[in-house]
Amino acid sequence: MKVVVIGAGMSGAAAAAKLEEKGALVYLMDAKEKAELPFIRELSLPEEQMVFGREMSLANVPGEPPDLVVLSPGVPPKVRAIQEALADGIRIWSEVELALTDGQGDKGAGGFTVVGVTGSNGKTTTTSLIGALAESTGKKSVVAGNIGVPLTGLVPDEYDFIVAELSSFQLAFLDKLRIPIAVLLNVTPDHLDWHGSFEAYAAAKGRILQNQLAGDVCVINGDCPVCRRLSEQVRGRRIVFSSTTLPDSGWGLERGWIVRRCDGKSRKVVPVDHLRLKGAHNWENVMAALAVGEEMGLSDEDLVGVVGGFEAVRHRQEVVGTYNGVVYVNDSKATNPDSAIKALGSYTGPIVLLAGGRNKGLDMIGFMKAAKDRCRCVVIYGEATKELREAAAEVGVLRTVVAESFADAVYAAVAESEAGDVVLLSPGCTSWDAFKNYEERGDCFREMVMRLAGG
Ligand code: ADP
Repeated sequence: MKVVVIGAGMSGAAAAAKLEEKGALVYLMDAKEKAELPFIRELSLPEEQMVFGREMSLANVPGEPPDLVVLSPGVPPKVRAIQEALADGIRIWSEVELALTDGQGDKGAGGFTVVGVTGSNGKTTTTSLIGALAESTGKKSVVAGNIGVPLTGLVPDEYDFIVAELSSFQLAFLDKLRIPIAVLLNVTPDHLDWHGSFEAYAAAKGRILQNQLAGDVCVINGDCPVCRRLSEQVRGRRIVFSSTTLPDSGWGLERGWIVRRCDGKSRKVVPVDHLRLKGAHNWENVMAALAVGEEMGLSDEDLVGVVGGFEAVRHRQEVVGTYNGVVYVNDSKATNPDSAIKALGSYTGPIVLLAGGRNKGLDMIGFMKAAKDRCRCVVIYGEATKELREAAAEVGVLRTVVAESFADAVYAAVAESEAGDVVLLSPGCTSWDAFKNYEERGDCFREMVMRLAGG
């Protein structure tokens, strides 16, 4: 079998190694030069099977067209090789498929259970929560996927639970992989540049349910109309969670408690005040994780022990310090307006918001409306300044400050804040206009805050 692996980062290199081990004729492709690709060093592929520093096109692969194309996560669809594979009807797999399909056997019943988590926002938080719950079962588990640990490097049979964070890119090419416990957190506009339309993006997310069998479980957000629609055809059992109502069967909120409702009876599980994670969106993440934890056989006491002690994942509403009565929160991972709107709704005191960066083509009006209701001041910076300033003016945000750079924005936020405020870096845009990634932006914020405010 001839396989072309597209993208030679950590995942692509692991995929190439696995395929070679299985006896495939593997070609590995990347637009970068060999010297820029540290993860290929361990590979034993012959030179002519490494197509680097050239356009990623199947025309650059010698001989017959491949039988299979394997995509590294995050490879954009405009890459010529993907378009060529689609046009020629060549099978395309994501690394998830490659990593896990084999072990599932014909009927999709392997020794391990895959828990797949997807959604526009909350994936990493929920995946990490479920990972912590899986670990507390005492069985062997691992957290992998879009969260930064390539699935391909794993030996699936070594685990009882594989908790996988799945992006819409990975799901777009899902083929036969069955995800027996699937979590669909929410679907709101994101990555439209990649998928072409909201419908295509939503359909990609929905594929997490496509191979489920009758005994499988899907955990879905009952407050999200797209999730409800996507789950209508599902063959498995539906477990609904909601932060606005108490579902007939599922998880909901009632008078400050997370409640499990089943067969017409309700059971109080944990008061939200007991959680370190803040905001209704995080309670949704917790409810989704609790639903999975219960499926894994954990008792309420075990569930509460794990979720109660769970701290925010770095760069996700992470409290970086309290200085002069002001709480500084790093939510650099809020790279789309919806996640930033959720962060704005998580605090009761006045907020000084840092908003800006590079817009992914998303509407900023809703973001600025939410900011208007919650903020003492919005500090705007970066490439999206014009759009944000216009949106803020249109909805009547009370006070805005425009900063020339990210550093100036942090200075301004410190200056604008008063004791009792929250200074919130929840930019609603990507960091790519000024940083390598959102982690670098969050780290820069943390360091500056410690220096400026912490003295
Ligand atoms: P993802 O992995 O999907 O990007 P994260 O857990 O990393 O999700 O959180 C990303 C951003 O989204 C953070 O800014 C966080 O505050 C916000 N967020 C987390 N959970 C949710 C949710 N359920 N709904 C909306 N926004 C959320």
